[in-house]
Amino acid sequence: MSETVDRPRRYLVRTFGCQMNEHDSERIAGQFEAEGMVPAHDEDDADVIVLNTCCIRENADNRLYGTLGHLKPRKDADPDLQIVVSGCLAQKDRDLVRERAPYVDVVMGTHNVHRAADLVERARREGPLTEILDAAVADDATTFPSALPPRRDQQHAAWVTIQVGCDNSCAFCIVPAVRGAEISRPFLALVDEVRRLADDGVTEVTLLGQNVNSYGRDLTLAERRAGGDGPVRPLFADLLRAAGAVDGIRRVRFTSPHPKDLRPETIAAMAEVPEVCNHLHLPLQSGSDRVLAAMHRGYTAERYLDRLRRARAEIDDLAVTTDIIVGFPGETDDDFARTLEVAAEARYDSAYTFIYSPRPGTEAATMTDVEVPADVIAERFERLRVVVERTAVERHAARVGRVEEVTVEGPSRKDPSVLTGRTSQNKLVHFASERPLRVGTYVTVAVTGAASHHLRGDLMDVVAPARHRTRIPVASA
Ligand code: SF4
Repeated sequence: MSETVDRPRRYLVRTFGCQMNEHDSERIAGQFEAEGMVPAHDEDDADVIVLNTCCIRENADNRLYGTLGHLKPRKDADPDLQIVVSGCLAQKDRDLVRERAPYVDVVMGTHNVHRAADLVERARREGPLTEILDAAVADDATTFPSALPPRRDQQHAAWVTIQVGCDNSCAFCIVPAVRGAEISRPFLALVDEVRRLADDGVTEVTLLGQNVNSYGRDLTLAERRAGGDGPVRPLFADLLRAAGAVDGIRRVRFTSPHPKDLRPETIAAMAEVPEVCNHLHLPLQSGSDRVLAAMHRGYTAERYLDRLRRARAEIDDLAVTTDIIVGFPGETDDDFARTLEVAAEARYDSAYTFIYSPRPGTEAATMTDVEVPADVIAERFERLRVVVERTAVERHAARVGRVEEVTVEGPSRKDPSVLTGRTSQNKLVHFASERPLRVGTYVTVAVTGAASHHLRGDLMDVVAPARHRTRIPVASA
């Protein structure tokens, strides 16, 4: 729909990807709203459609080009509609996006999220444009999406980007190529941001980075330049402690730590700071040392398990989740058997299991001579699912009879008469409530039932009301 009457322009941001992308989407939306635009109800109602892409997930390119193909007739009928492709796939395939969808108005990469509103405005005046910066610029507001004004869907919870990029070189992963080298955000700027969020009524923050445990490695100089009184060389553990100490913050989460960099200080902070949630997402990827070496993961299965044992020994009631890839090139039956053993020993609360698929531009994508046949992968994937599900069910069943503190996230999608929330362990809980409860309210729930992916329970008490102001939607003409 074009802007034929004097009404605010409407935007829609669709995210195909990880939390980092979702967070970038929030910042893109925040900029549009700062320019007076309002959210559209759906694609048909939008004047600007942003497709924020991720190339980590499987089929991201098919999904992008499928969506672009579906938008083309609308663009043909309404040339004033603006289509923006942003994110990792745009960064990686800059020319290809233009080649395959010349009607796209703006192609922008991962390092220029802060320019979204400007680029859309410029393209309106000057026609289609592509802007891909090859490296992050060392400037807080530019490099870190958190330093831009947000448009958060959840008002009680916020993501805080603590680091961008990655210095590792996992053979299957495109992140270092599209997000660049690791840059940590200065410690004091982060603590300030958490304070501002808490002043705004946010009670839960999730610290985001590709490898949060290496946070701060590059910071000494920046910290000195900032002239603050934070630690000279802050560790991730210092950040956990500082975020947990901010008045009003009840929960601190983070994702993801690399197992090789999980330091004793991080485990100690998780154990000692009550606000830091007792949930650790520790990506295993494979249980075979041979495959781990081929992936360049920097740990063996035994070292991984050893760190996990230490974390469990120190952190009370810890939930552990993971990522596992099945069918990495060259994975043998013995390698896979080891993955099953390690998964069983780790006793995960849940696991994201992925069928390996090559990402163009990665080292693993060149290992075509040792690809594992699809039927073998499918059979292994099913065996792994059974092992993971068994421990997930057991660990969920062990919660029955307990009283859990739960943050209300809203009505259940399947049954709106039931409310949904999350525990500190990040477990989904469904419970009935006769009284209306605002999203962000902390309640206690007596757990009465368990399935592999959620718990059920009865509402007991309200522990803390939601603190954020209710956002009044901007009326659109
Ligand atoms: S640690 Fe490995 S998997 Fe994670 S972002 Fe860096 S390269 Fe990718």
